[in-house]
Amino acid sequence: MPFIFGIDKILTNQNNKCSIGNRDKIKEGGKGMYLDDIKIIFMQSCVADSKKIRFKAKFSRDISEVLPYINSVLKDAIYNKNAMSLTIRKEFRIITLHSDMLAVSKAVNETDAYEIIDSVKDLINNTYENKEKIKPLYEMRSKPSAIDVYNHLPKLNCRKCGEYTCLAFATKLLSGEQNIKRCVHIYDVHNRENLEWIEDFLQVFGY
Ligand code: SF4
Repeated sequence: MPFIFGIDKILTNQNNKCSIGNRDKIKEGGKGMYLDDIKIIFMQSCVADSKKIRFKAKFSRDISEVLPYINSVLKDAIYNKNAMSLTIRKEFRIITLHSDMLAVSKAVNETDAYEIIDSVKDLINNTYENKEKIKPLYEMRSKPSAIDVYNHLPKLNCRKCGEYTCLAFATKLLSGEQNIKRCVHIYDVHNRENLEWIEDFLQVFGY
């Protein structure tokens, strides 16, 4: 069960006020384009599912100022003001926009990666183009829950991470005082799905 609902098409969100006309103008002319380029700098197989890929791509400029506007128009987005990140789910894919780069996991293949890049570039440019009509939203709509994380931990209370309980570990994971790598048992083979869930969760919420 996903912890947030995905969106099928980033650019067809009913709340996105960007028009097709504007998008075409930006694509064709390029003049006055806010974000010129997104370049892939890293690509490899996903750890949990080697048939899918993850990649990072660098923005040609800092796009921090646009994130609260995208947060406003995409109701399923998770915006983390402190981490300066915004995450969108597109079906099973997890797409995170940082101020200077894009991080994507579970892309289908390289072609899919380039399609995601095109969509993200359009999303950023169209949102910027229309920002006068959008009220920026600086809050995170959905808060991360320690109980959700705890439910996917091994629940052994073995203390190997330095905490007395798995719940304490989950709480500190969300406050940034712990790292998932310190839970040795989450890497046991039978916990693979739980590890994947926690890694997705942490990425979505900008940890
Ligand atoms: S190492 Fe993992 S299983 Fe052990 S207490 Fe810490 S969180 Fe729980």
